[in-house]
Amino acid sequence: MNNSLSEIYQALFLHYGDLQWWPAKTPYEVMVGAILTQNTAWTNVEKAIGQFEDDLTPERIHHLPLEKLQDLIRPSGFYKQKSQYLKVLTEWFMSYDCDVKRIQNLPLSDVRKELLGVHGVGNETADSILLYAFHFPTFVVDAYTMRLFKRYPLDAGKTYVQVKKFIESRIPADVLVYNRFHALIVQNGKEHCKKKALCEGCPLEGSCKKCFD
Ligand code: SF4
Repeated sequence: MNNSLSEIYQALFLHYGDLQWWPAKTPYEVMVGAILTQNTAWTNVEKAIGQFEDDLTPERIHHLPLEKLQDLIRPSGFYKQKSQYLKVLTEWFMSYDCDVKRIQNLPLSDVRKELLGVHGVGNETADSILLYAFHFPTFVVDAYTMRLFKRYPLDAGKTYVQVKKFIESRIPADVLVYNRFHALIVQNGKEHCKKKALCEGCPLEGSCKKCFD
């Protein structure tokens, strides 16, 4: 692993430990969560998922009338859009008989391309599903990651793809490391590297450019 990235990872891991992501009971729940979390806080996703009362399966979503599905996911916001996204993502999963192993046997680049072709699935949603539902070694970049690397003096790039390539070319493809690293960045983004940075007490305080501005 590149030295600077390794330092970031180690500092965050020492501070926060293993965050045990993704908080879901099944790969399908990860997929649903990845859609529902678009443009909303995770607490709202939890409320929406809670509405399914432990009965969150592709078959149920597939058969639910759209309006009923919208009622259930309403707490996550943008529920009309998201209900349609869930329907088509579920259809895609069902086209593989909801067989996770069958998907895992395909090349990562093929599955990523297919997911990006599903209505409502962009880079971040696709990579979240690939990494956390199917355990492919692909790095997830999100708003917290973009903010961190805008502030941290690494010149990691300005777009999703640039930052993803920057990280993936410096950290060997490892599902557990990618899983933990993304989770740690999100946690630090929530606690310290917010829109208005709270640098005091941040595990990266000693090495991050922003602190010396
Ligand atoms: S030191 Fe400040 S700017 Fe740097 S990562 Fe931490 S909170 Fe963000």
